[in-house]
Amino acid sequence: VKIVGSNFKMIITLFDTYKDFLPFLGLATIFLAGLVFFIKRKSTDATAVTEAVQPKELVASSEKVVSKTLDFKERLKLGLAKSRLGVWGKVKALVTGAAIDQETKEQLEAILFQADIPTTMVEKILHDVGRRGENTSLIDDIKLIMREVFEKSSLSQGQNEQHLEKSWNTELRETTKMSTQVIMIVGVNGVGKTTTVGKMAAALSRSGMKVVVAAADTFRAAAKEQLMVWCERAGADLVTGHENNNDPAAVCYQALTKAIELKADYCLLDTAGRLHNNDQLMEELKKIKRVISKLMPGAPHEVLLVLDAMTGQNALRQAAQFQQALGGLTGVVLTKCDGSAKAGCALAIVEQLKVPIRFIGVGETLEDLNIFKAEEFVDALFED
Ligand code: GDP
Repeated sequence: VKIVGSNFKMIITLFDTYKDFLPFLGLATIFLAGLVFFIKRKSTDATAVTEAVQPKELVASSEKVVSKTLDFKERLKLGLAKSRLGVWGKVKALVTGAAIDQETKEQLEAILFQADIPTTMVEKILHDVGRRGENTSLIDDIKLIMREVFEKSSLSQGQNEQHLEKSWNTELRETTKMSTQVIMIVGVNGVGKTTTVGKMAAALSRSGMKVVVAAADTFRAAAKEQLMVWCERAGADLVTGHENNNDPAAVCYQALTKAIELKADYCLLDTAGRLHNNDQLMEELKKIKRVISKLMPGAPHEVLLVLDAMTGQNALRQAAQFQQALGGLTGVVLTKCDGSAKAGCALAIVEQLKVPIRFIGVGETLEDLNIFKAEEFVDALFED
């Protein structure tokens, strides 16, 4: 009892002496807990990046093993599940077996607006649906209207598919004897530019093409490292900046010089998405275009804008900025459709920008990027 009593007294004395520090102690504990949480999150992000860069070796979970065996059509369906179960599922449920009366149209309008579909498009759908008569189901009507939107984008989508199939097909490419095609990839930070370049380099190399890649996002060290892994695995040549010369336009110049020397089929330029401010970024991209076109008139043959489907309306604002600053965007790569319930923003993109969607990304592995095909995309949004 004596011992317990004296210990208790000691605790009371200690408490009395240090009670003024208790608020600081509380704050310090909260700060430390926050720090531990932050470090844990960072390490999870790093794992995600590594998995993206080394898709095959690191595929561990049974879910990913299953998805590796799927062809792209199935991947697309899987990737678009959120969009299909959300807005487009509601559209299907509403119009299946329904008469296209005023009430149905009002409900359809409300659903379409949730999907970030622009007003002009919604009006078009509401105006045209049901016009083909009783022999066509309303859902087929809507699918057809959506396909027409893609096909009307500046280059006909059918032409796009043929052109790109040609590029991805070794035999056809050999017979057409095309010179090195320079593809410039632009977009804001984090949308998936470097991953897209890596996936393209890997897919093109795998189909027998010689590919040279420029790591011109010299602002972000991780981009260079990501590309090193992709290119090494793909057998593509990577050109990076030197310690004493990190100018992105110089990196692109060197890469194209090498591509010409090697008679490469493709020269892919990965560019920065973030600089100190937006004007600087646009100036840098314009400089790259100028330097490249001096070295090879007509290049870059494609300027592809990468947009993250998850950003919805924001993607459109970004697109308008790039279009205005750079002009001549030849197409869009729509990434992260798997994480978004708003893959329907693809419609708004082609409608408002009048540029075709060239590629679509539905995941982080190499097999998750492919040529965008309007019919396949629309079917995947509606099919069970
Ligand atoms: P950058 O800053 O534009 O070069 O973006 P990154 O290429 O570094 O990509 C940022 C993150 O997005 C990485 O973790 C990629 O793995 C991820 N990512 C890219 N494309 C896709 C996609 O289609 N789906 C998903 N889920 N993630 C993607």
